[in-house]
Amino acid sequence: MMVGKYLKRCPICGGAVKRARAPYLMGRVVIEPKLEVDKCAKCGEEFYTAEQVARAQEKAIKLGIWKPWLEEERELKQVGGSLVVSIPRAMAKSLNLAPREKVKIMLTGQGISITKGKKSTTSSAHR
Ligand SMILES: [Zn+2]
Repeated sequence: MMVGKYLKRCPICGGAVKRARAPYLMGRVVIEPKLEVDKCAKCGEEFYTAEQVARAQEKAIKLGIWKPWLEEERELKQVGGSLVVSIPRAMAKSLNLAPREKVKIMLTGQGISITKGKKSTTSSAHR
């Protein structure tokens, strides 16, 4: 989770980050009309603090518009210079992910998102 209050440079584009007021949206629903956030002057990405996100999610659950569907905490492992996270089976299954499959990792305002990549050309027949 990105903690906005301590950002000076945008982690996405490197632009200058300024304080701004922005609503917290989930889909098209405004959860919090006015939050103090850090906003990138260059790409416009808004950074909420972990606390702001947690509070907004709680509110969204109470409003019945958001369900933490398949949410799990995982421990990171270090492999070389990278951190590795394992994907829970239920999540892998829902995206039809198989071993050796390519996924796309994206840095977003909310954290890191993992999506299914293009069809992998390396087949699992190698094993
Ligand atoms: Zn930026």
